[in-house]
Amino acid sequence: MTSSPTPVADLAWNRPLNFIDGEFVAGEGTRRVEVRDPAQDTVVVDQPEASAEQVDAAVRAARRAYATWSRMTPGERSDLMHAWARDLTEHADELARWESRQCGKPLKLTTQFDVAGSIDNVVFYAGAARNFEGKSQGEYSPDHTSSIRREPIGVVGSIAPWNYPLQMAAWKILPAIAAGNTIVLKPAEITPITSLLFAESAHRAGIPAGVINIVTGGGRSVGTALTGHDEVDMVSFTGSTAVGESIAASVPGKRTHLELGGKAPFVVFDDADIEAAAQGAVAASCINTGQDCTAATRAYVHASKFDEFVNRTAELLDTVVLGDPEDPATDLGPLSSQRHQEKVGEMVDRAREAGATIVRGGSRPDRDGYFYAPTLITGAAQDSEIVQDEVFGPVLVVLPFETDDEAIELANDTPYGLAASAWTRDVYRAGRASREIAAGCVWINDHIPIISEMPHGGYKASGHGNDMSTYSLEEYTNIKHVSVDITGNARKHWHRIIFKGE
Ligand code: NAD
Repeated sequence: MTSSPTPVADLAWNRPLNFIDGEFVAGEGTRRVEVRDPAQDTVVVDQPEASAEQVDAAVRAARRAYATWSRMTPGERSDLMHAWARDLTEHADELARWESRQCGKPLKLTTQFDVAGSIDNVVFYAGAARNFEGKSQGEYSPDHTSSIRREPIGVVGSIAPWNYPLQMAAWKILPAIAAGNTIVLKPAEITPITSLLFAESAHRAGIPAGVINIVTGGGRSVGTALTGHDEVDMVSFTGSTAVGESIAASVPGKRTHLELGGKAPFVVFDDADIEAAAQGAVAASCINTGQDCTAATRAYVHASKFDEFVNRTAELLDTVVLGDPEDPATDLGPLSSQRHQEKVGEMVDRAREAGATIVRGGSRPDRDGYFYAPTLITGAAQDSEIVQDEVFGPVLVVLPFETDDEAIELANDTPYGLAASAWTRDVYRAGRASREIAAGCVWINDHIPIISEMPHGGYKASGHGNDMSTYSLEEYTNIKHVSVDITGNARKHWHRIIFKGE
């Protein structure tokens, strides 16, 4: 008889919050890490964060492991990553439940998206590890044969945010280790648990100790100890634009990979299927309670379709169910923390005070946990905070436009450039929007889906570098040109420049 799993709301974490050199290690820092269940407003775990010495131990473990991991064949690394994917599949339910517990996410989201997507990423990189491509070796000068080597960079120090803790850990760890690097990852201090389970699973599957290390704690303490460590060769960061840019400035000379904030436009032309656009707008603004860097945040709708779109979107928002993450009927979980709930509420309040109309939502429901009602706003100014800045909550602002030129201009009118969508049945408009919207991803007639094979990265203040896909794998390598003289001459042809043309 199989026993039923512990209810998400009762899961208890009694283990340490660091995974260093293949072992769980209790933090010895002075500050504490508190993980709360945002759906219930209860404490899940409260322990000391990692000390600077423990960050150092993790980096040194990664350096030691690099010596052997980087010399393994791609096939050997790939086999271990396939074994890892199998282990994760066996523990998928545990991972999904813990992701729900620490984030408040509906279990249907963590099961079908966070965990399933992360396992697919592992399988993808297990294959991609064996498939580096490059320019063919050849005589690009008559006297030399040139070839390209792609080599791992060394120890990667990585920092992740709290919105998709497991997936963000996967996006950072997988391309790095598939390319032969080793890594120390600091998850967000409020959501470390699934990153620890992910690393533990890798170890159980046979990935050697020290290849993947997790240290938990605050950004200014544990984060800076990691990014500033002399033995960290590359810093890969996902999080807000402000923190990412400050980290990049603090590590001159190190390779950086920055996945930063977003404020995705959602452009609905007058020929669009308005029912599809409204369905898409609700799903893409409410996904993960809007705590998604690619979430639809600014809908620009042709003036002739504006009322129809707003009315239908409002109707559909009314059907979205907030509630207990474990309940299959729940569509929307809470925001990640009380502080974040306050921030979202304050931004909506300021929009209201500035004259915007709150068509739906705009308030906290009367229940425990950090919930916020799905919110639809019209009448905001293009240059207002609610249109320009990241809210990172279930908040969609709708603005009208008259011409295609204006729509593209408005879509590009924020500092960000992570993702966007255009809704049209006109192939020429679709082509123009894909070319002219400055973002790392443009969806046509959809908004949100991502896949392991395709890159995810930003333009402008949304950062540089890509997660997922073989593009990401390449970013965790150095390119080396090897040039071999094939003449055997002591006096090379080019020496005439030095030896007076003789
Ligand atoms: P954040 O920038 O506040 O924190 C991200 C991480 O950085 C956390 O682990 C934090 O502890 C750490 N940190 C903070 N200060 C640091 C410092 N000085 N040195 C080193 N580490 C430091 O972001 P957040 O609030 O956790 O996450 C939300 C943000 O992440 C949003 O802006 C969102 O758009 C962005 N995000 C981007 C992507 C993407 O792929 N582009 C994906 C997910 C989230």
